[in-house]
Amino acid sequence: MPVTRHLTPWLLLWALVSVAAAGVDCDDLPQLAAEIHDLRDKDASEGVRRGEALLERLYRRDPDCPDGEMLMLRALASNLNILGRPHEGLMHMRRALQLLDELSDVRPEIRAEMHLTAGVLHWELEAHDEAISHYLASMHASKAAGDAIAVARAAGNIGNLYNTTSDFQRSREYHERALAGFEQEQWEIGVAGTLVNLAALAGRKARRREAADDPQAAQAEYARMLDHGRDALVLFERLDNHRGIAHAKTNIAEALVGVGRAEEALQHQREALALQREVGDRGGEIQSLISLARIEQSLGRPDEAAERLNAALDLTPDDNLARRHDVIAQLAGLKEARGDYRSALEYQKTLNGLRSRIADNQMAARVDETRMALEAEQREQELALLRREAEIADLRLERQRITSLVAVLLAILLLILLALVFKLYRGRLQRARQLEQVARTDALTGLSNRRAMLEQLEAAHRVSRDTGEVHSIILADIDSFKRINDQYGHGVGDEVLRHVASLLDRAVRGRDVVARWGGEEFLVLLRHTDLPGGDAVAGNLIELVAGHPASTNAGELSLTMTAGVAELTAAVTVDEAVRRADEAMYRGKRSGKHCHVVAWQEDDAGE
Ligand code: GH3
Ligand code: MG
Ligand code: MG
Repeated sequence: MPVTRHLTPWLLLWALVSVAAAGVDCDDLPQLAAEIHDLRDKDASEGVRRGEALLERLYRRDPDCPDGEMLMLRALASNLNILGRPHEGLMHMRRALQLLDELSDVRPEIRAEMHLTAGVLHWELEAHDEAISHYLASMHASKAAGDAIAVARAAGNIGNLYNTTSDFQRSREYHERALAGFEQEQWEIGVAGTLVNLAALAGRKARRREAADDPQAAQAEYARMLDHGRDALVLFERLDNHRGIAHAKTNIAEALVGVGRAEEALQHQREALALQREVGDRGGEIQSLISLARIEQSLGRPDEAAERLNAALDLTPDDNLARRHDVIAQLAGLKEARGDYRSALEYQKTLNGLRSRIADNQMAARVDETRMALEAEQREQELALLRREAEIADLRLERQRITSLVAVLLAILLLILLALVFKLYRGRLQRARQLEQVARTDALTGLSNRRAMLEQLEAAHRVSRDTGEVHSIILADIDSFKRINDQYGHGVGDEVLRHVASLLDRAVRGRDVVARWGGEEFLVLLRHTDLPGGDAVAGNLIELVAGHPASTNAGELSLTMTAGVAELTAAVTVDEAVRRADEAMYRGKRSGKHCHVVAWQEDDAGE
């Protein structure tokens, strides 16, 4: 069956249609996603714009591109987070994580990046438990990918998270794990950063111990802080990283104050301040000024301390209410300590104003957060709708493909059916023709039989009536045939009949017909031949048979025939013509056989 050959062009057409419908090429998406992800450090707004446009195109044209979609969602989420829109970021990230769950063959490094971004977003939204579990998942995947630095980074992130939740013990465990990882990989900037983190952690622990009235433990933590700070300092100096040096020096200074070496601390903190000014680290500068004020205070120099605090206040932006509150509270404390209650009261009034503004802001922030969460949800629904529409379009296309496939198959089936019916019909026709042929043919000799001959005679008679045309008929009978049968058997008789039939058939013209009329009698129709013509043919035929003995099983047998010739005209019916020929033939038999006798019209008149 040529079904496959017929289907091939259709299949090709479908393939072309599918490619055209895809629009965004799946293979390009990872590269595009990487580019957009990188934009977060340079131009996050552009990253968001491009990411959203690409995703929308993807959803409109072909939703079936999960790998690329996942990477694109993560790139968009990172950019949104940088722009301070973590709710929206998280919404995209949730969808990305869902895809990550569904995809089985994602490379572990990609898996690690996905969870890392998810961790950052959750942390940003203060969902600490989720953040930690994503960082753990990221760590696990990085381990599988054999990326030791990524493992150490994730551990550092978890350490920072536990620091935020004040789980110092765990925080230290993870930072130490990060430190070991970075050291193993000899990644100095990582080692130095982790040391700063560990130092800060020790500082927090020390202050807590102090508050818990456990000076001994506090001292131990300060000593630790000092060690970490110094180690970090060495590394940052080697790396010539000024920001890092300032960080380390701040740690060292705080630790030195803790262990009662305030003068040394002052020196380090001043150096830190100078470096922060140099690199333009405004936040660090303010922090250093506050630390310096604390050190000056501990050295019994309240005026210098106030000076530092005022400088810090000048640098603190007006909208950083919390920081202003802290600084002013310290200033109020200073004034109180000096017995300047009037100034202290002024500061307290300012503090009251700040506190109510902070409360207002917190309220506004909460309202803002709720609004953003709602907007993110709305956008999520819009995107879900878009995805749904794209899926429906996809299904529709699929249905169209199936419909055309069914149509083609039906057409082919119909063709096959038609071919079968045609073949059946032709077979029937052939069989009918064969049967017809059989019904008109004499089985022994292959000549026309009596029935077929009668039809021919009737047709010739009709022609005579229409045109006046004259035909002749010859009725020839083998002489003494019974004797052959009797003498040699029926089989030899049959051989003789076949021999005579063949002789007669070959002797007449194409338009004439020879038939076996019965037994050993043959009838010949000579078209457009008058009686003299028929008489001549009859003479020829009789001589032909006499001159050609039949070679049979019983040897050569000589034969003779006797024939009667009659005319078939408009005035003579077929039956009449045959009867006349028969009579003429018998006349011949009676006059001694082996002759031909013509049935002239005058004879008829005579009889
Ligand atoms: P005549 O010269 O007067 O025609 O004598 P005849 O013996 O030829 O004529 P008759 O009519 O007495 O005999 C005809 C014989 O032909 C009788 C019959 O057995 C034989 N016959 C008829 N049909 C067939 C046939 O198909 N095969 C054979 N072998 N013999 C046949
Ligand atoms: Mg006979
Ligand atoms: Mg005979």
